[in-house]
Amino acid sequence: MDAKEFRRRGKEMVDYVADYLENIQTRRPLSDVQPGYLRQLIPGEAPQDPESWDQLFPDIERVIMPGVTHWHSPHFHAYFPTSNSYPAICADILSDAIGCIGFSWIASPACTELEVVMMDWLAKMLELPDQFLSGGKGGGVIHGTASEATLVALLAARSHAVNKAKECHPDMTDAQILGKLVAYTSDQAHSSVERACLLGAVKCRLVKSDENEKMRGDALQEAIEEDKQNGLIPFFCVATLGTTGCLSFDPLIEIGPVCQKENVYMHVDAAYAGSSFICEEFRPLLNGVEFADSFNFNPHKWMLVNFDCSAMWFKDSSDVVDAFNVDPLYLKHENQGAVPDYRHWQIPLGRRFRSLKIWFVLRLYGVKGIQDHIRKHVRLAHEFEELVKKNSAFEVTHEVTLGLVCFRLKADRATNETLLQNINKDGRIHMVPSESKGKYFLRFAVCAASTESKDITFAWEVIQELADQLM
Ligand code: PLP
Repeated sequence: MDAKEFRRRGKEMVDYVADYLENIQTRRPLSDVQPGYLRQLIPGEAPQDPESWDQLFPDIERVIMPGVTHWHSPHFHAYFPTSNSYPAICADILSDAIGCIGFSWIASPACTELEVVMMDWLAKMLELPDQFLSGGKGGGVIHGTASEATLVALLAARSHAVNKAKECHPDMTDAQILGKLVAYTSDQAHSSVERACLLGAVKCRLVKSDENEKMRGDALQEAIEEDKQNGLIPFFCVATLGTTGCLSFDPLIEIGPVCQKENVYMHVDAAYAGSSFICEEFRPLLNGVEFADSFNFNPHKWMLVNFDCSAMWFKDSSDVVDAFNVDPLYLKHENQGAVPDYRHWQIPLGRRFRSLKIWFVLRLYGVKGIQDHIRKHVRLAHEFEELVKKNSAFEVTHEVTLGLVCFRLKADRATNETLLQNINKDGRIHMVPSESKGKYFLRFAVCAASTESKDITFAWEVIQELADQLM
């Protein structure tokens, strides 16, 4: 494909994308293909000779679309949202064209410099403490996912903890120290925290949450005391703002002082909920963030920035830079130290020009446009909550704070499981379940940017119809 053909086919592709997104509500949100479906539809080997665009293009509908779960359908209510917007798609086209690998400042100065400024813009929008801004010790970086951010925080804290333990116990080997390190998180935290502990080869202690699914300061303190008495070394804690299961919020204001007193690194995972903190009415949920050593949320979940874009800030970036520093000659440059070389802030070397899509989205929506988007989703969740409350066969199981409603039929687990299976088999809407403290419930998340009140009413009618058939 030369530039002339790219101009033509690129425009066709843009039309296809616009048609797809404009008419997405007509497609079944959850794909119903069987495993292995795709292998039947394309050859087992790559073509020897080039094919034409006209041969390729129809295969999008024939091969790909049957196996797509349409996350941007207004009838998709599973997991948490993932964002999609035309400005972000345009920025990604430009990022793909520039195609730089911005591991150091000199590898593409704009890639690093726009990221530094965008992370400051975002931090100011969330009103994060000034220590997280660039210019001093702090600063932000864009990762692909919240899981990477947690792992990077854990590895940075681990390196620091090993060095500190060696100062006190010069006789101990690194391996002996590692065997004693313990990380803490709530039993409601995302599985990526346990995974980070496995990858980091440290113990993970799941602190029992209270009746509102929050990790409390006294429960954390008790767990730390017990571990210290057993000769272990507490070093890391992940607090969650907006748990995946039921959107509970750990009180940072209680957990922070415990971490500070015990010299435990505190990371805050606000993967989904973080976007809401640009609205002042939700910002009290952030109280205590000043105790955090690092903070992370996913603009790709709820801020109209397409996947992947996970924003992470450090209060002291030397925590991470010193932990992973290797400096081969071929990566050095004359301006080292004047600006971040983001290769030191992450696990891979290569990195995409992701800040472009934040820049496009923030400029073309403005903070107000994004606030409207968040507030609309929260309003729609409350509309759904009201509908559930009006039907005495159902109950809302957890407080509705943002765009997630957890609810169940007032019936046993098996009935609720069957209801969910029937909803997904029916295919008009898509949802996933969760459970906590032995109680199974259904999660209704407002996901697509295009979701409106009529989609909420539609979903509730489908759920009631299938529940009526079951009861
Ligand atoms: N943390 C929380 C609270 C989440 O809800 C999720 C995913 O939904 C994650 C972490 C993992 O996110 P990612 O896919 O960006 O690693």
